[in-house]
Amino acid sequence: MSTITVPEQKTDASSEAAVAAFMERVEAQSAGEKVFHQAVREAVRSVMPLVLTTPAYRQARILERMVVPDRVIIFRVTWVDDKGQVQVNRGYRVQMNGAIGPYKGGLRFHPSVNIGILKFLAFEQTLKNSLTTLPMGGAKGGSDFDPHSRTDGEIMRFCHAFMNELYSYIGPDIDVPAGDMGVGGREIGFLFGQYRKLTHRFNGVLTGKGFNWGGSNLRPEATGYGAVYFAQEMLASREQEIAGKVATVSGSGNVAQYTVEKLNALGAKSVTLSDSEGTIVDMDGINSDKLAWVMQLKNVRRGRIREYAEHFKGAKFLPGKRPWDVPCDLAFPSATQNELDAVDASNLVKNGCTCVSEGANMPSTPEAVEVFLEHHILYGPGKAANAGGVAVSGLEMSQNATCLQRTREDVDAQLRRIMKSIHANCVRYGSIEGETGNGKPGRFVNYLRGANIAGFIKVADAMVQQGVL
Ligand code: NDP
Repeated sequence: MSTITVPEQKTDASSEAAVAAFMERVEAQSAGEKVFHQAVREAVRSVMPLVLTTPAYRQARILERMVVPDRVIIFRVTWVDDKGQVQVNRGYRVQMNGAIGPYKGGLRFHPSVNIGILKFLAFEQTLKNSLTTLPMGGAKGGSDFDPHSRTDGEIMRFCHAFMNELYSYIGPDIDVPAGDMGVGGREIGFLFGQYRKLTHRFNGVLTGKGFNWGGSNLRPEATGYGAVYFAQEMLASREQEIAGKVATVSGSGNVAQYTVEKLNALGAKSVTLSDSEGTIVDMDGINSDKLAWVMQLKNVRRGRIREYAEHFKGAKFLPGKRPWDVPCDLAFPSATQNELDAVDASNLVKNGCTCVSEGANMPSTPEAVEVFLEHHILYGPGKAANAGGVAVSGLEMSQNATCLQRTREDVDAQLRRIMKSIHANCVRYGSIEGETGNGKPGRFVNYLRGANIAGFIKVADAMVQQGVL
Protein backbone atom coordinates (compact mmCIF):
# COMPACT_ATOMS: atom_id res chain seq x y z
CA MET A 1 0.00 0.00 0.00
CA SER A 2 1.18 3.53 -0.78
CA THR A 3 2.72 5.65 1.96
CA ILE A 4 1.07 8.78 0.56
CA THR A 5 -0.82 10.90 3.13
CA VAL A 6 -4.41 11.48 2.13
CA PRO A 7 -5.93 14.83 3.13
CA GLU A 8 -8.89 14.07 5.37
CA GLN A 9 -11.29 16.88 4.52
CA LYS A 10 -13.89 16.76 1.78
CA THR A 11 -13.16 18.61 -1.46
CA ASP A 12 -12.66 22.35 -0.75
CA ALA A 13 -13.10 25.38 -3.03
CA SER A 14 -9.69 25.08 -4.71
CA SER A 15 -10.13 21.43 -5.49
CA GLU A 16 -13.70 22.08 -6.72
CA ALA A 17 -12.24 24.68 -9.12
CA ALA A 18 -9.60 22.18 -10.26
CA VAL A 19 -12.32 19.56 -10.82
CA ALA A 20 -14.37 22.03 -12.88
CA ALA A 21 -11.37 22.92 -15.09
CA PHE A 22 -10.42 19.26 -15.48
CA MET A 23 -13.98 18.23 -16.40
CA GLU A 24 -14.22 21.02 -18.96
CA ARG A 25 -11.29 19.45 -20.81
CA VAL A 26 -12.65 15.90 -20.46
CA GLU A 27 -16.05 16.95 -21.77
CA ALA A 28 -14.49 18.77 -24.74
CA GLN A 29 -12.36 15.74 -25.59
CA SER A 30 -15.22 13.23 -25.37
CA ALA A 31 -18.28 15.22 -26.41
CA GLY A 32 -21.62 13.51 -25.86
CA GLU A 33 -20.27 10.71 -23.64
CA LYS A 34 -22.45 11.75 -20.70
CA VAL A 35 -22.22 8.67 -18.47
CA PHE A 36 -18.45 8.63 -18.94
CA HIS A 37 -18.32 12.27 -17.78
CA GLN A 38 -20.53 11.36 -14.80
CA ALA A 39 -18.24 8.49 -13.74
CA VAL A 40 -15.08 10.58 -14.16
CA ARG A 41 -16.50 13.56 -12.27
CA GLU A 42 -17.55 11.35 -9.38
CA ALA A 43 -14.06 9.84 -9.05
CA VAL A 44 -12.14 13.05 -9.70
CA ARG A 45 -14.07 14.92 -6.99
CA SER A 46 -12.83 12.32 -4.51
CA VAL A 47 -9.21 12.17 -5.61
CA MET A 48 -8.50 15.81 -6.56
CA PRO A 49 -7.40 16.92 -3.03
CA LEU A 50 -4.91 14.03 -3.05
CA VAL A 51 -3.67 14.83 -6.56
CA LEU A 52 -3.23 18.52 -5.72
CA THR A 53 -1.05 17.66 -2.71
CA THR A 54 0.99 14.92 -4.40
CA PRO A 55 3.61 16.39 -6.78
CA ALA A 56 4.47 12.96 -8.26
CA TYR A 57 0.88 12.55 -9.50
CA ARG A 58 0.69 16.10 -10.84
CA GLN A 59 4.04 15.96 -12.63
CA ALA A 60 3.23 12.62 -14.25
CA ARG A 61 -0.25 13.96 -15.21
CA ILE A 62 -1.79 10.78 -13.86
CA LEU A 63 -5.41 11.99 -13.90
CA GLU A 64 -5.14 13.27 -17.49
CA ARG A 65 -3.72 9.89 -18.53
CA MET A 66 -6.29 7.82 -16.62
CA VAL A 67 -9.26 9.30 -18.50
CA VAL A 68 -7.87 8.36 -21.92
CA PRO A 69 -8.14 4.63 -22.71
CA ASP A 70 -4.92 2.77 -23.54
CA ARG A 71 -6.80 1.82 -26.70
CA VAL A 72 -10.31 1.32 -28.09
CA ILE A 73 -11.09 -1.41 -30.60
CA ILE A 74 -14.24 -1.02 -32.71
CA PHE A 75 -15.32 -3.63 -35.21
CA ARG A 76 -18.18 -4.85 -37.39
CA VAL A 77 -20.03 -8.02 -36.38
CA THR A 78 -21.88 -9.59 -39.31
CA TRP A 79 -24.05 -12.65 -38.83
CA VAL A 80 -27.11 -14.41 -40.31
CA ASP A 81 -30.40 -14.66 -38.37
CA ASP A 82 -32.86 -17.58 -38.40
CA LYS A 83 -34.71 -16.08 -41.40
CA GLY A 84 -31.51 -16.09 -43.41
CA GLN A 85 -31.17 -12.32 -43.22
CA VAL A 86 -27.80 -10.66 -42.77
CA GLN A 87 -27.52 -8.65 -39.54
CA VAL A 88 -24.85 -6.07 -38.79
CA ASN A 89 -23.85 -4.96 -35.27
CA ARG A 90 -21.01 -2.97 -33.74
CA GLY A 91 -18.49 -4.64 -31.46
CA TYR A 92 -16.21 -2.83 -29.01
CA ARG A 93 -13.41 -3.41 -26.53
CA VAL A 94 -12.17 -0.53 -24.41
CA GLN A 95 -8.77 -1.38 -22.87
CA MET A 96 -8.73 1.42 -20.34
CA ASN A 97 -5.72 0.93 -18.10
CA GLY A 98 -3.23 -1.94 -17.94
CA ALA A 99 -0.88 -0.56 -15.26
CA ILE A 100 -1.56 -3.17 -12.57
CA GLY A 101 -2.34 -6.28 -14.62
CA PRO A 102 -3.87 -7.72 -17.79
CA TYR A 103 -7.02 -5.90 -18.89
CA LYS A 104 -10.10 -7.38 -17.22
CA GLY A 105 -13.77 -6.52 -17.49
CA GLY A 106 -17.05 -7.81 -18.83
CA LEU A 107 -18.79 -7.83 -22.19
CA ARG A 108 -22.25 -6.24 -22.38
CA PHE A 109 -24.74 -7.15 -25.11
CA HIS A 110 -27.55 -4.57 -25.01
CA PRO A 111 -29.04 -2.22 -27.63
CA SER A 112 -27.96 0.81 -25.56
CA VAL A 113 -24.25 -0.06 -25.81
CA ASN A 114 -22.09 2.71 -27.24
CA ILE A 115 -18.58 4.00 -26.73
CA GLY A 116 -19.54 6.40 -23.91
CA ILE A 117 -21.21 3.65 -21.87
CA LEU A 118 -18.24 1.32 -22.33
CA LYS A 119 -15.74 4.03 -21.40
CA PHE A 120 -17.70 4.74 -18.20
CA LEU A 121 -17.77 1.03 -17.36
CA ALA A 122 -14.07 0.54 -18.18
CA PHE A 123 -13.10 3.56 -16.07
CA GLU A 124 -15.12 2.24 -13.11
CA GLN A 125 -13.64 -1.21 -13.70
CA THR A 126 -10.09 0.16 -13.42
CA LEU A 127 -10.73 1.50 -9.91
CA LYS A 128 -12.81 -1.55 -8.93
CA ASN A 129 -10.20 -4.06 -10.03
CA SER A 130 -7.56 -2.15 -8.12
CA LEU A 131 -9.74 -2.33 -4.98
CA THR A 132 -9.96 -6.12 -5.14
CA THR A 133 -6.21 -6.29 -4.30
CA LEU A 134 -5.75 -8.65 -7.31
CA PRO A 135 -3.48 -7.76 -10.27
CA MET A 136 -6.03 -6.79 -12.93
CA GLY A 137 -6.19 -3.78 -15.24
CA GLY A 138 -9.50 -2.26 -16.36
CA ALA A 139 -11.46 -2.91 -19.56
CA LYS A 140 -15.02 -3.32 -20.83
CA GLY A 141 -16.53 -4.33 -24.13
CA GLY A 142 -19.66 -5.49 -25.84
CA SER A 143 -22.08 -4.84 -28.62
CA ASP A 144 -25.36 -3.09 -29.44
CA PHE A 145 -26.74 -6.59 -30.16
CA ASP A 146 -30.07 -7.24 -28.37
CA PRO A 147 -30.20 -10.84 -27.12
CA HIS A 148 -33.87 -10.56 -26.07
CA SER A 149 -36.12 -12.79 -28.17
CA ARG A 150 -33.19 -14.24 -30.13
CA THR A 151 -32.98 -18.03 -30.42
CA ASP A 152 -30.06 -20.07 -29.09
CA GLY A 153 -28.87 -20.55 -32.70
CA GLU A 154 -28.87 -16.80 -33.34
CA ILE A 155 -27.04 -16.13 -30.06
CA MET A 156 -24.42 -18.71 -31.03
CA ARG A 157 -23.88 -17.28 -34.52
CA PHE A 158 -23.62 -13.76 -33.11
CA CYS A 159 -21.12 -14.80 -30.40
CA HIS A 160 -18.99 -16.67 -32.95
CA ALA A 161 -18.99 -13.65 -35.28
CA PHE A 162 -18.10 -11.34 -32.38
CA MET A 163 -15.14 -13.52 -31.41
CA ASN A 164 -13.96 -13.76 -35.04
CA GLU A 165 -12.71 -10.20 -34.59
CA LEU A 166 -12.08 -9.91 -30.84
CA TYR A 167 -9.75 -12.91 -30.56
CA SER A 168 -6.79 -10.97 -31.98
CA TYR A 169 -6.82 -8.53 -29.08
CA ILE A 170 -7.27 -10.81 -26.05
CA GLY A 171 -5.34 -13.56 -24.23
CA PRO A 172 -4.79 -14.85 -20.68
CA ASP A 173 -1.99 -12.36 -20.01
CA ILE A 174 -3.30 -9.61 -22.34
CA ASP A 175 -7.01 -9.06 -21.80
CA VAL A 176 -9.50 -11.42 -20.15
CA PRO A 177 -13.18 -10.57 -20.84
CA ALA A 178 -16.11 -11.91 -18.78
CA GLY A 179 -19.90 -11.53 -18.71
CA ASP A 180 -22.05 -8.49 -17.97
CA MET A 181 -25.60 -7.55 -18.98
CA GLY A 182 -26.82 -9.91 -21.69
CA VAL A 183 -23.73 -12.11 -21.42
CA GLY A 184 -23.98 -15.12 -19.09
CA GLY A 185 -22.74 -18.70 -19.09
CA ARG A 186 -24.38 -19.54 -22.45
CA GLU A 187 -22.69 -16.64 -24.27
CA ILE A 188 -19.30 -17.23 -22.59
CA GLY A 189 -19.51 -20.84 -23.84
CA PHE A 190 -20.08 -19.79 -27.45
CA LEU A 191 -17.38 -17.09 -27.26
CA PHE A 192 -14.83 -19.47 -25.74
CA GLY A 193 -15.60 -22.20 -28.27
CA GLN A 194 -14.86 -19.88 -31.17
CA TYR A 195 -11.69 -18.53 -29.51
CA ARG A 196 -10.45 -22.10 -29.07
CA LYS A 197 -11.24 -22.97 -32.69
CA LEU A 198 -9.51 -19.87 -34.07
CA THR A 199 -6.36 -20.07 -31.92
CA HIS A 200 -5.99 -23.81 -31.24
CA ARG A 201 -5.46 -22.86 -27.60
CA PHE A 202 -7.29 -23.85 -24.44
CA ASN A 203 -6.51 -21.27 -21.80
CA GLY A 204 -8.00 -18.80 -19.34
CA VAL A 205 -8.86 -16.15 -21.94
CA LEU A 206 -12.40 -15.67 -20.57
CA THR A 207 -13.85 -15.97 -17.09
CA GLY A 208 -17.33 -17.13 -16.21
CA LYS A 209 -16.61 -20.41 -18.02
CA GLY A 210 -18.56 -23.61 -17.30
CA PHE A 211 -17.24 -25.44 -14.24
CA ASN A 212 -16.44 -28.57 -16.30
CA TRP A 213 -14.12 -26.65 -18.63
CA GLY A 214 -12.13 -24.32 -16.41
CA GLY A 215 -14.72 -22.19 -14.65
CA SER A 216 -14.56 -21.31 -10.98
CA ASN A 217 -16.94 -22.44 -8.32
CA LEU A 218 -19.18 -19.56 -7.26
CA ARG A 219 -18.46 -17.22 -10.20
CA PRO A 220 -22.16 -16.92 -11.16
CA GLU A 221 -23.05 -16.15 -7.53
CA ALA A 222 -20.10 -13.88 -6.76
CA THR A 223 -21.42 -10.40 -7.63
CA GLY A 224 -24.73 -10.80 -5.79
CA TYR A 225 -23.18 -12.59 -2.83
CA GLY A 226 -20.42 -9.97 -2.65
CA ALA A 227 -22.93 -7.09 -2.63
CA VAL A 228 -24.65 -8.71 0.36
CA TYR A 229 -21.33 -9.35 2.13
CA PHE A 230 -20.46 -5.69 1.61
CA ALA A 231 -23.81 -4.64 3.14
CA GLN A 232 -23.08 -7.01 6.03
CA GLU A 233 -19.76 -5.25 6.67
CA MET A 234 -21.36 -1.79 6.49
CA LEU A 235 -24.15 -2.83 8.88
CA ALA A 236 -21.65 -4.41 11.30
CA SER A 237 -19.93 -1.00 11.57
CA ARG A 238 -23.19 0.18 13.18
CA GLU A 239 -23.65 -3.03 15.16
CA GLN A 240 -26.50 -4.21 12.98
CA GLU A 241 -27.03 -7.39 11.00
CA ILE A 242 -28.83 -8.59 7.85
CA ALA A 243 -31.13 -11.08 9.62
CA GLY A 244 -34.68 -9.82 9.97
CA LYS A 245 -34.25 -6.94 7.52
CA VAL A 246 -36.55 -6.21 4.56
CA ALA A 247 -34.75 -5.61 1.25
CA THR A 248 -35.71 -4.14 -2.10
CA VAL A 249 -33.78 -5.48 -5.10
CA SER A 250 -33.96 -4.21 -8.68
CA GLY A 251 -33.24 -6.22 -11.82
CA SER A 252 -33.93 -9.93 -12.15
CA GLY A 253 -30.77 -11.07 -13.90
CA ASN A 254 -27.58 -12.62 -12.60
CA VAL A 255 -26.75 -10.06 -9.92
CA ALA A 256 -30.30 -9.65 -8.61
CA GLN A 257 -30.93 -13.41 -8.43
CA TYR A 258 -27.87 -14.19 -6.32
CA THR A 259 -28.40 -11.11 -4.15
CA VAL A 260 -31.83 -12.50 -3.23
CA GLU A 261 -30.35 -15.98 -2.70
CA LYS A 262 -27.76 -14.69 -0.21
CA LEU A 263 -30.27 -12.42 1.53
CA ASN A 264 -32.55 -15.42 2.04
CA ALA A 265 -29.65 -17.48 3.39
CA LEU A 266 -28.84 -14.75 5.92
CA GLY A 267 -32.43 -14.40 7.14
CA ALA A 268 -33.54 -11.23 5.34
CA LYS A 269 -36.70 -10.88 3.26
CA SER A 270 -36.48 -9.60 -0.34
CA VAL A 271 -39.73 -8.06 -1.51
CA THR A 272 -39.07 -6.78 -5.05
CA LEU A 273 -37.49 -7.64 -8.40
CA SER A 274 -37.76 -5.76 -11.69
CA ASP A 275 -36.88 -5.68 -15.37
CA SER A 276 -37.16 -3.11 -18.13
CA GLU A 277 -40.98 -3.52 -18.15
CA GLY A 278 -41.59 -2.85 -14.44
CA THR A 279 -41.40 -4.12 -10.86
CA ILE A 280 -42.97 -6.98 -8.93
CA VAL A 281 -43.72 -6.52 -5.23
CA ASP A 282 -44.21 -9.55 -3.00
CA MET A 283 -44.51 -8.49 0.65
CA ASP A 284 -44.55 -12.18 1.71
CA GLY A 285 -40.96 -12.37 0.50
CA ILE A 286 -39.27 -14.01 -2.50
CA ASN A 287 -38.34 -17.24 -0.74
CA SER A 288 -36.06 -19.92 -2.20
CA ASP A 289 -38.89 -21.75 -4.02
CA LYS A 290 -40.06 -18.52 -5.65
CA LEU A 291 -36.46 -17.62 -6.51
CA ALA A 292 -35.97 -21.00 -8.19
CA TRP A 293 -39.06 -20.20 -10.28
CA VAL A 294 -37.59 -16.79 -11.20
CA MET A 295 -34.30 -18.43 -12.25
CA GLN A 296 -36.21 -20.82 -14.50
CA LEU A 297 -38.25 -17.90 -15.91
CA LYS A 298 -35.26 -15.65 -16.59
CA ASN A 299 -32.43 -18.08 -17.37
CA VAL A 300 -34.25 -20.87 -19.20
CA ARG A 301 -37.61 -19.62 -20.52
CA ARG A 302 -36.24 -16.06 -20.90
CA GLY A 303 -39.60 -14.56 -19.90
CA ARG A 304 -40.60 -11.25 -18.30
CA ILE A 305 -40.81 -10.56 -14.56
CA ARG A 306 -44.50 -9.56 -14.80
CA GLU A 307 -45.27 -13.29 -15.08
CA TYR A 308 -44.26 -13.59 -11.38
CA ALA A 309 -47.37 -11.67 -10.31
CA GLU A 310 -49.56 -13.86 -12.56
CA HIS A 311 -48.06 -16.99 -10.95
CA PHE A 312 -47.79 -16.08 -7.25
CA LYS A 313 -50.96 -14.90 -5.55
CA GLY A 314 -50.46 -11.85 -3.33
CA ALA A 315 -47.71 -10.41 -5.52
CA LYS A 316 -48.39 -7.41 -7.73
CA PHE A 317 -46.79 -6.05 -10.90
CA LEU A 318 -46.21 -2.30 -11.25
CA PRO A 319 -45.74 -1.58 -14.97
CA GLY A 320 -43.01 0.97 -15.75
CA LYS A 321 -42.18 1.40 -12.04
CA ARG A 322 -38.96 0.98 -10.09
CA PRO A 323 -38.82 -0.59 -6.62
CA TRP A 324 -37.63 2.43 -4.66
CA ASP A 325 -40.88 3.60 -3.08
CA VAL A 326 -41.49 0.22 -1.46
CA PRO A 327 -40.62 0.52 2.28
CA CYS A 328 -37.44 -1.37 3.18
CA ASP A 329 -34.39 -1.43 5.48
CA LEU A 330 -31.88 -2.31 2.74
CA ALA A 331 -31.77 -1.53 -1.01
CA PHE A 332 -29.78 -3.39 -3.66
CA PRO A 333 -29.95 -1.62 -7.05
CA SER A 334 -28.89 -4.44 -9.38
CA ALA A 335 -30.20 -3.59 -12.86
CA THR A 336 -28.43 -0.76 -14.69
CA GLN A 337 -26.83 2.70 -14.52
CA ASN A 338 -28.87 5.71 -13.32
CA GLU A 339 -31.85 3.62 -12.28
CA LEU A 340 -32.22 5.42 -8.92
CA ASP A 341 -32.64 9.22 -8.88
CA ALA A 342 -32.91 11.86 -6.16
CA VAL A 343 -36.67 11.35 -5.74
CA ASP A 344 -36.13 7.59 -5.37
CA ALA A 345 -33.33 8.21 -2.86
CA SER A 346 -35.54 10.55 -0.82
CA ASN A 347 -38.32 7.95 -0.84
CA LEU A 348 -35.91 5.29 0.39
CA VAL A 349 -34.68 7.52 3.22
CA LYS A 350 -38.22 8.64 4.13
CA ASN A 351 -39.39 5.03 4.31
CA GLY A 352 -36.61 4.00 6.69
CA CYS A 353 -33.92 2.52 4.43
CA THR A 354 -30.53 2.77 6.14
CA CYS A 355 -28.23 0.86 3.81
CA VAL A 356 -27.77 0.84 0.01
CA SER A 357 -25.37 -1.66 -1.56
CA GLU A 358 -25.02 -1.29 -5.33
CA GLY A 359 -24.91 -4.55 -7.31
CA ALA A 360 -25.13 -2.64 -10.60
CA ASN A 361 -22.54 -0.20 -11.94
CA MET A 362 -23.36 3.44 -11.07
CA PRO A 363 -27.11 2.78 -10.57
CA SER A 364 -27.57 5.92 -8.42
CA THR A 365 -27.49 9.34 -10.06
CA PRO A 366 -25.10 11.93 -8.53
CA GLU A 367 -28.14 13.69 -7.01
CA ALA A 368 -29.28 10.42 -5.39
CA VAL A 369 -25.80 9.87 -3.94
CA GLU A 370 -25.95 13.39 -2.45
CA VAL A 371 -29.21 12.46 -0.70
CA PHE A 372 -27.64 9.30 0.75
CA LEU A 373 -24.55 11.13 1.99
CA GLU A 374 -26.58 14.01 3.41
CA HIS A 375 -28.65 11.57 5.47
CA HIS A 376 -25.63 9.51 6.53
CA ILE A 377 -27.04 6.37 4.94
CA LEU A 378 -24.63 3.45 4.67
CA TYR A 379 -24.00 3.83 0.94
CA GLY A 380 -21.78 1.24 -0.79
CA PRO A 381 -20.98 2.39 -4.36
CA GLY A 382 -20.92 -0.23 -7.12
CA LYS A 383 -17.17 -0.13 -7.63
CA ALA A 384 -16.78 -1.43 -4.06
CA ALA A 385 -20.01 -3.34 -3.40
CA ASN A 386 -20.16 -5.27 -6.68
CA ALA A 387 -16.43 -6.04 -6.92
CA GLY A 388 -17.03 -9.63 -5.78
CA GLY A 389 -17.76 -10.70 -9.36
CA VAL A 390 -14.47 -9.57 -10.81
CA ALA A 391 -12.65 -10.74 -7.68
CA VAL A 392 -13.82 -14.31 -8.28
CA SER A 393 -12.97 -13.85 -11.96
CA GLY A 394 -9.45 -13.03 -10.74
CA LEU A 395 -9.50 -16.25 -8.71
CA GLU A 396 -10.66 -18.10 -11.85
CA MET A 397 -7.62 -16.71 -13.71
CA SER A 398 -5.26 -17.94 -11.01
CA GLN A 399 -6.96 -21.35 -10.95
CA ASN A 400 -6.54 -21.61 -14.75
CA ALA A 401 -2.88 -20.59 -14.54
CA THR A 402 -2.18 -23.32 -11.98
CA CYS A 403 -4.59 -25.95 -13.47
CA LEU A 404 -6.36 -26.22 -10.10
CA GLN A 405 -9.98 -25.77 -9.10
CA ARG A 406 -10.77 -24.46 -5.64
CA THR A 407 -13.75 -25.79 -3.69
CA ARG A 408 -16.91 -23.76 -3.29
CA GLU A 409 -16.13 -23.24 0.41
CA ASP A 410 -12.62 -22.03 -0.40
CA VAL A 411 -13.82 -19.54 -3.05
CA ASP A 412 -16.56 -18.29 -0.71
CA ALA A 413 -13.99 -17.73 2.05
CA GLN A 414 -11.75 -15.82 -0.41
CA LEU A 415 -14.72 -13.74 -1.58
CA ARG A 416 -15.63 -12.82 2.01
CA ARG A 417 -12.00 -11.94 2.75
CA ILE A 418 -11.80 -9.70 -0.34
CA MET A 419 -15.10 -7.93 0.43
CA LYS A 420 -13.91 -7.34 4.01
CA SER A 421 -10.64 -5.91 2.74
CA ILE A 422 -12.44 -3.62 0.26
CA HIS A 423 -14.64 -2.43 3.11
CA ALA A 424 -11.60 -1.81 5.32
CA ASN A 425 -9.92 0.22 2.54
CA CYS A 426 -13.07 2.31 2.05
CA VAL A 427 -13.10 3.01 5.80
CA ARG A 428 -9.40 3.84 5.77
CA TYR A 429 -9.68 6.45 3.01
CA GLY A 430 -13.32 7.53 3.39
CA SER A 431 -13.66 8.32 7.10
CA ILE A 432 -14.62 11.88 7.87
CA GLU A 433 -14.71 13.38 11.36
CA GLY A 434 -18.21 14.51 12.29
CA GLU A 435 -21.33 12.69 13.15
CA THR A 436 -21.86 8.95 12.83
CA GLY A 437 -24.93 7.65 11.07
CA ASN A 438 -26.46 7.04 14.50
CA GLY A 439 -26.49 10.76 15.28
CA LYS A 440 -23.57 10.45 17.74
CA PRO A 441 -20.29 12.35 17.37
CA GLY A 442 -17.61 10.26 15.67
CA ARG A 443 -16.48 9.33 12.21
CA PHE A 444 -18.77 9.00 9.22
CA VAL A 445 -17.59 6.81 6.36
CA ASN A 446 -18.06 8.19 2.88
CA TYR A 447 -17.57 4.85 1.09
CA LEU A 448 -17.65 6.50 -2.32
CA ARG A 449 -14.72 8.72 -1.47
CA GLY A 450 -12.89 5.84 0.21
CA ALA A 451 -13.37 3.50 -2.78
CA ASN A 452 -12.27 6.13 -5.29
CA ILE A 453 -9.12 7.03 -3.36
CA ALA A 454 -8.09 3.47 -2.48
CA GLY A 455 -8.65 2.31 -6.08
CA PHE A 456 -6.86 5.33 -7.53
CA ILE A 457 -3.68 5.16 -5.40
CA LYS A 458 -2.64 1.67 -6.49
CA VAL A 459 -3.10 2.43 -10.21
CA ALA A 460 -1.52 5.88 -9.94
CA ASP A 461 1.56 4.56 -8.10
CA ALA A 462 2.04 1.82 -10.71
CA MET A 463 1.80 4.41 -13.50
CA VAL A 464 4.36 6.66 -11.82
CA GLN A 465 6.72 3.72 -11.28
CA GLN A 466 6.43 2.55 -14.92
CA GLY A 467 7.31 5.95 -16.36
CA VAL A 468 5.73 8.15 -18.99
CA LEU A 469 3.73 5.90 -21.30
P1 NDP B 1 -28.34 -9.39 -16.62
O1 NDP B 1 -28.37 -9.17 -18.07
O2 NDP B 1 -28.25 -10.76 -16.08
O3 NDP B 1 -29.62 -8.68 -15.93
C1 NDP B 1 -29.85 -7.33 -16.09
C2 NDP B 1 -31.19 -7.01 -15.46
O4 NDP B 1 -31.38 -5.60 -15.44
C3 NDP B 1 -32.36 -7.60 -16.24
O5 NDP B 1 -33.36 -7.97 -15.33
C4 NDP B 1 -32.79 -6.41 -17.10
O6 NDP B 1 -34.12 -6.47 -17.54
C5 NDP B 1 -32.61 -5.28 -16.11
N1 NDP B 1 -32.53 -4.01 -16.80
C6 NDP B 1 -31.70 -3.66 -17.82
N2 NDP B 1 -31.94 -2.41 -18.20
C7 NDP B 1 -32.95 -1.97 -17.42
C8 NDP B 1 -33.64 -0.74 -17.33
N3 NDP B 1 -33.34 0.30 -18.13
N4 NDP B 1 -34.64 -0.63 -16.40
C9 NDP B 1 -34.93 -1.67 -15.58
N5 NDP B 1 -34.31 -2.85 -15.62
C10 NDP B 1 -33.34 -2.99 -16.52
O7 NDP B 1 -27.14 -8.49 -16.08
P2 NDP B 1 -26.35 -8.59 -14.71
O8 NDP B 1 -27.26 -9.00 -13.62
O9 NDP B 1 -25.12 -9.35 -14.96
O10 NDP B 1 -25.90 -7.07 -14.51
C11 NDP B 1 -26.70 -6.12 -13.80
C12 NDP B 1 -25.83 -4.94 -13.40
O11 NDP B 1 -24.74 -5.42 -12.58
C13 NDP B 1 -25.17 -4.18 -14.56
O12 NDP B 1 -25.05 -2.82 -14.17
C14 NDP B 1 -23.76 -4.80 -14.61
O13 NDP B 1 -22.82 -3.93 -15.21
C15 NDP B 1 -23.50 -4.97 -13.13
N6 NDP B 1 -22.46 -5.94 -12.80
C16 NDP B 1 -22.56 -7.25 -13.20
C17 NDP B 1 -21.58 -8.15 -12.86
C18 NDP B 1 -21.69 -9.61 -13.16
O14 NDP B 1 -20.85 -10.38 -12.65
N7 NDP B 1 -22.67 -10.05 -13.93
C19 NDP B 1 -20.37 -7.72 -12.14
C20 NDP B 1 -20.41 -6.35 -11.67
C21 NDP B 1 -21.41 -5.50 -12.04
P3 NDP B 1 -34.45 -6.82 -19.08
O15 NDP B 1 -34.21 -8.29 -19.17
O16 NDP B 1 -35.86 -6.41 -19.25
O17 NDP B 1 -33.49 -6.02 -19.93
